[in-house]
Amino acid sequence: MVKKTYCAFCKHPRTVYDKKHITWTNVSLSLLAAVLLMFIVWQRFNPIVIVFFVLALSAAEIFTQMRWRLSVECPHCGFDPVLYLRDQTLACDKVVRVLEEKKSRGDYLLKSNNPFEFLHKRKADDFTTTSKPPQAGSQVSKRV
Ligand SMILES: [Zn+2]
Repeated sequence: MVKKTYCAFCKHPRTVYDKKHITWTNVSLSLLAAVLLMFIVWQRFNPIVIVFFVLALSAAEIFTQMRWRLSVECPHCGFDPVLYLRDQTLACDKVVRVLEEKKSRGDYLLKSNNPFEFLHKRKADDFTTTSKPPQAGSQVSKRV
């Protein structure tokens, strides 16, 4: 039901609900709840139990899907793999927004799950495309 996994972006461990839809257990519990509600309200069989059963099934399915969808997003960096599959630019913008917000607050420095801990650090050489001119003495050391 709960699966431990790692975030694809910040590489921190987290838990995700792997149950996306209701099971037969939820169906039987919804039926039991509808029958109990019927006997509490009318003290005898009433065909409106079908409406209660369908409402209980709908509530269970909505709750299960919302719980799964909210657990998919990383709480540390805001990376959402479902959104990434639909639209990569929206997912990237969301991660950038969450990381900028965390950086401006600065409280991530005191937490054990620092979202910046495993991110690739850019160097100044990554942004330059031109190579450096040879400096004096660099060719001499290669000849020796
Ligand atoms: Zn993450």
